[in-house]
Amino acid sequence: MDILLRGTLANNSLRFMAISGRELVEKARETHGLSRVCTAALGRTLLITSIMGAELKSDDDKVTVIIKGEGLAGNLVCTSNQSATVKGYIENPSIELPLMPNGKLDVGSAVGWLGKMTVIRDHSLKEPYVGSCDMVSGEIAEDFAHYFTISEQTPSLVYLGVRVDATSGSVLSAGGIVIQPLPGCDDYIIDGIEAITEDISSLAKRLGDGETLEQALNDILKEFEPVVLSTSSPEFKCDCSRERLERVLISLGREELQDMIEKDGGAEIACQFCNTKYYFDKEQLTNLLKEM
Ligand SMILES: [Zn+2]
Repeated sequence: MDILLRGTLANNSLRFMAISGRELVEKARETHGLSRVCTAALGRTLLITSIMGAELKSDDDKVTVIIKGEGLAGNLVCTSNQSATVKGYIENPSIELPLMPNGKLDVGSAVGWLGKMTVIRDHSLKEPYVGSCDMVSGEIAEDFAHYFTISEQTPSLVYLGVRVDATSGSVLSAGGIVIQPLPGCDDYIIDGIEAITEDISSLAKRLGDGETLEQALNDILKEFEPVVLSTSSPEFKCDCSRERLERVLISLGREELQDMIEKDGGAEIACQFCNTKYYFDKEQLTNLLKEM
């Protein structure tokens, strides 16, 4: 079962957020028919978006990540909320690339590193917070470490890993960790965390070998004595509805709607996040047109 844990390390010197998300990434793979490299690319982005969702203060808030790296797989968009429910899509979900010389999936080339990434935090009562920075490698974890440091002034260690079956492409395991210093954190503790980067990057493998997230964290971070403060159950789920898709139709404009009524006699539109199709007949479209 997928799980997200948040807590502190080294006697409140650091905070951590960690996720085990095999099921949510597999659900995304099935929903969008993702290739292996796109499973890793979108999977990593879903994991970090879910982690950022769990950090939100109110249950009306949401966080949206938009990655425009100019890679072959196109743009990625993911959204999450306080309960860590996440949804997302990648523009060219079926694109596949040769493995890199080290045998890993070439996520960097799929996502690209020439463009920008943007994070939008929508707060119900306040102005949205928008942060943006250049992409670094398209490998996602590195890009987010850079984003947190540059755009949010929070130096962060970020690890994201998705393991897929070489033949079937199904998700074997998916895990992520973000570690950030709390006020007053001593340099030697940060050095200590940096020294175990390699252990941290064994998380997805450990989860695939059957360890629970808590077991893996307790082992990887044992010298920092992890204390878990909160637990959530992340999942891949879309919250679309007919009303939401009506707003999409309205946003296309009067002329486009008129065209759909006259030329097509109706419209079928699919939700980008979950591919659910919604059909609007001539009469429904005409009513929308009247409402505008
Ligand atoms: Zn949907």
